[in-house]
Amino acid sequence: MASATAVIAAAGSGERLGGGGPKAFVNVHGRPLLAWSLAAFDAAMTIDGVVVAVPPGSERRVAEVAEEAGVEVEIVPGGEHRSQSVANGLVPVDTDLVVVHDAARPLVTAELIEQVVARLDHDPDISGVIAAAPVTDTIKEASVSRRVLRTPERSRMWAVQTPQAFRTAGLRAAIAEHPDVLGTVTDDAMLVERSGGEVLIHQAPPDNFKVTTPRDLKIAEMLLAER
Ligand code: C5P
Repeated sequence: MASATAVIAAAGSGERLGGGGPKAFVNVHGRPLLAWSLAAFDAAMTIDGVVVAVPPGSERRVAEVAEEAGVEVEIVPGGEHRSQSVANGLVPVDTDLVVVHDAARPLVTAELIEQVVARLDHDPDISGVIAAAPVTDTIKEASVSRRVLRTPERSRMWAVQTPQAFRTAGLRAAIAEHPDVLGTVTDDAMLVERSGGEVLIHQAPPDNFKVTTPRDLKIAEMLLAER
């Protein structure tokens, strides 16, 4: 079985959630948001180690969360942007494969993590495998002034999530190749695609959504309570 290291991006400020502190520590159904992802990675058979990028200054709090969850982690300071946090998280990684995940997705499962790693390991020509769900809304591309420019065919549109599995060397090279865009990319696969890497979508449940707003938090609470 393939083995991979997890890099969990948990260094966001959580401003849009309004919890008065970093999102990773917001309580969701009795545990800090970050603890749900730690538990899923701990349960995934393919995961060898976990690196967490955290808001600088919150290292001790994260160590407590990991200890309470019973998960051994390596803690690194996050960067100004998400991609920088991921780049920092890649530094201690010494496995050939890496799985990047946003702590803001507490509904991730060990099964989904194992599936993206296995799919990547299965095919040496593929640079990355990313979790995504088919969109149910029609998507429009619009100008800055909101004039509709284009309506892509919905059946080919995917809402991209994490986990995203990559070859560690490939992701490192892609980050190093595009330092100018690190502040604007919204997922790691974008960097690998720009470097010419082939990325595959692995269909994931829409439940694995990102907790961004107070409404998302309520929905996550409800779904986690049902588990
Ligand atoms: O801001 P957004 O919701 O897109 O963040 C996605 C993930 O990236 C979150 O888990 C957040 O903690 C993380 N992040 C980070 N470093 C930053 C900004 C966001 O690790 N500077």
